[in-house]
Amino acid sequence: MAERRLQVTSRLGLHARAAANLVRVASQFKSSLTLQRLDGNAEEADAKSILSILTLAASRGTDLKIVASGEDEHEALEAVVSLFSRDFDETEKGDGNHVSRATQELRCKGLGVSDGVVIGRVLRLQEGTRNVYRAEIAEADLERERRRFRAAVRVARRQLETIKDRAEKELGRGHAYIFDAHLLFLQDAKLTRDVEDYIVKERSNAEWAAKVVGDRLLSIYTQINDEYLRERGSDIEDVIQRLLANLTGEGPKYPNLSEDAVVVSTDLLPSTIAELNLNHVKAIATDGGGWTSHMAIIARGLGLTTVVGLRDFYQRTRTGDRIIVDARRGEVVLHPAEETIAQYQFTSAGPALAPDGEIERGPVKTLDGVEISLRANVELSTEFQAVRDFGACGVGLFRSEFLLSRPGLMTSDTEQYETYKSLTEAAGEYGAIVRLFDVGGEVGPDMKERERNPALGLRAVRFNLRHQEIMRTQVRAILRAAATGPLSLVIPMVADVGDVRMAKRVIEEELERLKAENVSCSPVQIGAMIEVPSAVLTAEKIAGEVDFFELGTNDLVQYTLAVDRGNNKVSEWFRTLHPAVLYGIDRTVQAAKAAGIPVIVCGEMASTPAYAVLLVGLGAIDLSMTPAMIPAVRAVLSQINTNEARAVALKCLAAATADEVEELWLNYAEVATRQSSNR
Ligand code: PEP
Ligand code: MG
Repeated sequence: MAERRLQVTSRLGLHARAAANLVRVASQFKSSLTLQRLDGNAEEADAKSILSILTLAASRGTDLKIVASGEDEHEALEAVVSLFSRDFDETEKGDGNHVSRATQELRCKGLGVSDGVVIGRVLRLQEGTRNVYRAEIAEADLERERRRFRAAVRVARRQLETIKDRAEKELGRGHAYIFDAHLLFLQDAKLTRDVEDYIVKERSNAEWAAKVVGDRLLSIYTQINDEYLRERGSDIEDVIQRLLANLTGEGPKYPNLSEDAVVVSTDLLPSTIAELNLNHVKAIATDGGGWTSHMAIIARGLGLTTVVGLRDFYQRTRTGDRIIVDARRGEVVLHPAEETIAQYQFTSAGPALAPDGEIERGPVKTLDGVEISLRANVELSTEFQAVRDFGACGVGLFRSEFLLSRPGLMTSDTEQYETYKSLTEAAGEYGAIVRLFDVGGEVGPDMKERERNPALGLRAVRFNLRHQEIMRTQVRAILRAAATGPLSLVIPMVADVGDVRMAKRVIEEELERLKAENVSCSPVQIGAMIEVPSAVLTAEKIAGEVDFFELGTNDLVQYTLAVDRGNNKVSEWFRTLHPAVLYGIDRTVQAAKAAGIPVIVCGEMASTPAYAVLLVGLGAIDLSMTPAMIPAVRAVLSQINTNEARAVALKCLAAATADEVEELWLNYAEVATRQSSNR
């Protein structure tokens, strides 16, 4: 059996005349020849039957798998491949309207997850899920099958170590941690032992066993309500795909990239990005993905202009198409008209890049001398090193729920203490802030009861107050670690003063208990996450109860605009620059100022240089972000004048729509960019 993957590149697709040519060529061979779409429609078509081919509805850009089987399979396959490359020997006599429609300018709205505008050429990349078949293995061969699986794991480990080294060099250590996680999956008995058990128990081939076990793990992850934890599912998928590729001997094949490649895909796995030639990839556009997906986080870290959540964009493109990716507006333009390109060439400033050489540390000073603290958001202990690597002013947000590696699994008091202690050490003089578990019902005793509306359910502070045994264990570990260095605690998703008071009571009780037990501990500063509208509206009152605020703009956008942050279908309504969101930020910053407490903005908004400027315009002087974005944000903030930013921010506050704000802000960003390049 011989097979190939191909793309239909002829303008009119695999229509009747092209299909007829294909049948003519295929019929010259004895071997059977089948075609199959790679985008989910699994029906096979017989390449010797025109009706069968037409049922594929393979338009231009469709990816197909061609399988030849029989005595002359290689010749047959070559002949068909060659026909595809000649666009089915058509001389483009097709209907003119169709052609012009296919190349008409097409704008698609998605979600910009980084900065910048790029004009380039499409490079289609399809990860695709491999077709895996079940085969029954004879009793005597089971041991050999297990050995085959172990060998695939060993190869995967070597591959991932190489990817990780490369990621460390090219992306910085802050991003290589993702591949540490992949390596851990490979060592995890839950994966390896289960696959081997399945092979033996079900007398199954290793591919099928890996797929079944991988699917089981994935199904657990897809049920998780928390988007951050759910994203771990795509990491499992990444590792399983790698194992399957190694088992089938089909390594990943990435094409050579042109100078201005824009990678277009349905979705991208983190390791794919790391394996690409990053000198050439200028931008990324994907159908799936969200603001907080690993892919988006890596792309931001690399300064790659990226728009995600484009739904069915991939199938409309073909490699080589002209494309504009505008991450600022969260938009892509396929086949842009010359005037559109000219407009973009005028307005686009390249993505902000980290300055070369020695990394700067500590707060950044604006042109008018205002000091802005740049802290790091971290999730895993493997990221702690990044705090220093990127010159952060300590850790502004430690998303502690990442300690809960699996649903229903709690971490021990000791394990937590050790983690918070090393977090404190990594954060240095500026200190670190641990957020109490921001989780919902997927962990803890009621994990089996699925809530109808988890984002509005028993999560964050509510979960902690309901499951006080979990909260008290965490609080004790934090209070103990605070004795080793500057450590604070923040309460997630408070709705009002009531939530704060109840949480503070638990913290005070635990402090008293530790003291009574003579355990080394220290009181901590207590902050409140301001991320729901009721907290914004009562910010003055909450400010009187806490030592600091943390503004979670990710949830603030979600709850203010009633737009699920993880739902692709509504991503175009997820407008970070909506005036209502800006109003919430302004109100919170003012309330904190009036009460004399600091406010740290820690949502992803702070990780985007242009948005960080707006935050400063709104009065924020303490930002916490993805560590790898710190140099880029630092570079931009060092070139602004806070009075100018304030003046534009005030105009934005008075705007009626997100579009108006974007327009005002882009104009300002352009003028500021021009001014700074003249300086
Ligand atoms: C936020 O909501 O902005 C935030 C910082 O927390 P998370 O993204 O973890 O919800
Ligand atoms: Mg949040």
